Amino acid sequence: MKKICIIGGGFGGLSAAIRLSRSGLAAECVLIDKKATSDFLPTLPDCLGRGISPDCLAYKIEDICKKTGFKFIEEEVAAVDTEKREISTGNSRLNYDYLIIASGSETNFYGNENIRKCAYKLDDVADAENIIKKLKENDYRTYVIGGGGYTGVEVATNLRIFLNKSKRSGRIAVVERAPSILGPIPEWMKGYVSSNLRRLNVDIFINSQIERIEERKVHISGGKVFDDAIVIWAAGVKTAGFIQDLNVKKNPQGRVEVDEYLRLSESCFVIGDAAYIKHKEMFLRMAVQFSIAQGNCAAQNVITSIKGKPLRKYRPVDLGYIIPMANNRSCGSVLGVNLKGLLPTAFHFIMCIYRSWSWKKRFCIVKRLLT
Ligand SMILES: Cc1cc2nc3c(=O)[nH]c(=O)nc-3n(C[C@H](O)[C@H](O)[C@H](O)COP(=O)(O)OP(=O)(O)OC[C@H]3O[C@@H](n4cnc5c(N)ncnc54)[C@H](O)[C@@H]3O)c2cc1C
Repeated sequence: MKKICIIGGGFGGLSAAIRLSRSGLAAECVLIDKKATSDFLPTLPDCLGRGISPDCLAYKIEDICKKTGFKFIEEEVAAVDTEKREISTGNSRLNYDYLIIASGSETNFYGNENIRKCAYKLDDVADAENIIKKLKENDYRTYVIGGGGYTGVEVATNLRIFLNKSKRSGRIAVVERAPSILGPIPEWMKGYVSSNLRRLNVDIFINSQIERIEERKVHISGGKVFDDAIVIWAAGVKTAGFIQDLNVKKNPQGRVEVDEYLRLSESCFVIGDAAYIKHKEMFLRMAVQFSIAQGNCAAQNVITSIKGKPLRKYRPVDLGYIIPMANNRSCGSVLGVNLKGLLPTAFHFIMCIYRSWSWKKRFCIVKRLLT
């Protein structure tokens, strides 16, 4: 009997597990994740502004493994040897016939130990709980967000709503190294987001970097210092350490280049945030829709490989993207149509609820959004 392993129980890994179990293939299936839960990342910032309980966003991987007939191992993968077909964790070694790597991405501190130790990150439910606890227990004069990308903007808007609801004031500052926030998106969106941030009294510092954090003092390039401040770091991501260690072609974030069948080698597929895929002369951004579709495609290709049939090419379908903002003035482009205001906010939550892994969790999110 063939042994199929999946590393990562996020969007890509779980959709691959579900696809494999539905195929009725007789195989020994194992899913490995360093956490016990699959965390619903797109609504993490809403734990702050909309008061969604982080609990609503954590789904036990063991439960889905039971349903799909997978064995679940809760351990961190330390290394993968694609030639020997071997996975190493701190405690054990596992061999596989087919492997799907779906280990996502994590916050990148770019080697800055001071920022790693002193700033807060938002990679999972535990991080969201950590930030909420800190903000409830402490008052700050300035809330500094490192990075003006999607997550930074979303966190800034949620922070303002959180402070308003708890009748607190405070300066919110987004510090972005590049000459503009949000990177390569259309100018109208940048304008819309910037004016919404101004409306929410969020300051944007472009061409600026957080240099160091000392106690509650945050030093910014150019000599600026924020006193009595907390930093939430959302300035970039990288792939897991074991992927960084693979001697294969990667982009600067450590995402692995795969072929059109999502393969790194004949028996190893890489999907989701961990993979770097070219589409129409561009590289696909990190997004839930691509991770889920790639999970399905990789699982299908494992099945066809075992059956000795031709593999299926991965053909990305891009439904668009939304920049959700907590005062319901979101914007985005869905199926090629530009949207702003409440409608894209509604689309964002409809997709989040639809993609959630259980009815109980869906209900939990809806209940919070309606109260
Ligand atoms: C705050 C935030 C907001 C976001 N908002 C949106 C949004 O609005 N829309 C959107 O489309 N996308 C959004 N994203 C991006 C989206 O969540 C990711 O693109 C998506 O989760 C990637 O799916 P994945 O399956 O590749 O990885 P993930 O869903 O991240 O899952 C990876 C899994 O691998 C596990 N893992 C990692 N390393 C190891 C290891 N060494 N050993 C074992 N297990 C490991 C992790 O514990 C995790 O469970 C957001 C991300 C964040 C952080």
